[in-house]
Amino acid sequence: MQVHRPAKDKPKGSAGKTAAARAAAEQKTGSLFSSYAARVKIQPRSVRGRYDNLRIAALVITQLVFFGLPWLMWNGRQAVLFDLDARKFHLFGAVLWPQDFVYLAGLLVFCALTLFFVTAVAGRVWCGYSCPQTVYTEIFLWIEAKLEGDGPRRRKLDDAPWSWHKLRVRGTKHVLWVLFALFTGFTLIGYFAPIRDLPMQIIHLELGPWQWFWFLFYAFALWGNAGFLREQVCTHMCPYARFQGAMFDKDTMIVTYDKERGDPRGSRSKKADPAALGLGSCIDCGLCVEVCPTGIDIRDGLQYQCISCAACIDVCNGVMDKMGYARGLIRYATENALTNHLDSKATAKRILRPRVLIYGLILLVLAGALVGSLVSRNTLRVDIIRDRGALSGIAENGDIENTYTLNLMNTSERPLVLDLGVTGMPELRIDGQTRIEVPATSNRMVPLAIHLPPTTTERPGSHNIEITVTPVPQEGEEDTGAKPRREGTVYMVPR
Ligand code: SF4
Ligand code: SF4
Repeated sequence: MQVHRPAKDKPKGSAGKTAAARAAAEQKTGSLFSSYAARVKIQPRSVRGRYDNLRIAALVITQLVFFGLPWLMWNGRQAVLFDLDARKFHLFGAVLWPQDFVYLAGLLVFCALTLFFVTAVAGRVWCGYSCPQTVYTEIFLWIEAKLEGDGPRRRKLDDAPWSWHKLRVRGTKHVLWVLFALFTGFTLIGYFAPIRDLPMQIIHLELGPWQWFWFLFYAFALWGNAGFLREQVCTHMCPYARFQGAMFDKDTMIVTYDKERGDPRGSRSKKADPAALGLGSCIDCGLCVEVCPTGIDIRDGLQYQCISCAACIDVCNGVMDKMGYARGLIRYATENALTNHLDSKATAKRILRPRVLIYGLILLVLAGALVGSLVSRNTLRVDIIRDRGALSGIAENGDIENTYTLNLMNTSERPLVLDLGVTGMPELRIDGQTRIEVPATSNRMVPLAIHLPPTTTERPGSHNIEITVTPVPQEGEEDTGAKPRREGTVYMVPR
């Protein structure tokens, strides 16, 4: 990976200054001296094209999912709800408990592996198309562009002195940004509390302290990150930007500038023959720099700041169309394809390299295991807690008694009726109620006394026994959805 070149190393006459170049220029003329390059606000120019359409599609899909999911109902309940108070996670009819943490761990491993896989194949497409930072920055930029105009006009407004017009435009922009950020914060807490109750709770100031905190903190963080920090989050704060280089190799798809075809760069008229002028296809218009949300010049080679958004591809393709040149001076390509002039078939073959195939295989196995274990998950959980204070005792009727507590958990959306039984020694019996009802999505602690007659011929000491818990189908019900459980424990016969 190449480090971004300082402005002084750039080819002479290079139009469209990068953020670094503008920072250096401002530092030279500015009164403030600093050893560090000053940050120059990046005001990217908007662009239209195939990849822009893809980015808009990704934005719409991700935001429809984020904003729509908490409003979706399932079996009369919010389809996705992390009920932290009750320590339950409702997911489309399934109820996950803290004991199901393994699924969350599995999901996180799956997401991490997916990121490795996607990065090995197509570089930072996650950053360019669906990372929340990119998506929200795009939304904020869209609002900004509607009010203040495109990149160059916004730069002009930045430099203009404060006036009534500037105050009005900036004020409106911040009101809209804050409203959007608050709505996003509201949606976030709607994943942790019934979202339909939240509007009235907010109006009557009835949210809990943590709900207020996350609602306002998330909105504030979004306003700051998407409104002000923008590309700095990607270049300085995001750890992925730093370690993604380790997942790249020469067969990873990246956004590249075809130096062989583009250089030497230089302006010319549309009718001029570049070969006769000794020029390549790049007309040095600088538009690829102007549209870049991280303010870099892709013609300097791959840089860690590049988020693979392909805005430079779209704009350069437009320039090539206008000049009557072939598209693809900037394009998605692998380093190998570019240097060895590989065609798309040979490139695809090299992309499917062992590393990618292994990631893909692990992903498939993991996804199958996760889905399989979720689908075949037993909705009945049983924990036996032995009364350790009294290993055994003598009941009123003279029986040898061992006491336990059963923790019966029903993780399904319907009530369960359960029959208790005990096996392991011929004369064992349960003293008391053996039919128990556990309401939907709840657990019940049931005291259990197991008896053996005093005439027993069993030897003193501990014996392995099994407690059986069998779901009983109710009227009109063929299957409870829960499977019977057999749990082992120990029974003590006194000396
Ligand atoms: S947009 Fe294309 S033609 Fe214009 S400077 Fe960039 S690479 Fe050269
Ligand atoms: S160099 Fe191109 S692909 Fe990379 S961030 Fe800038 S505009 Fe996006």
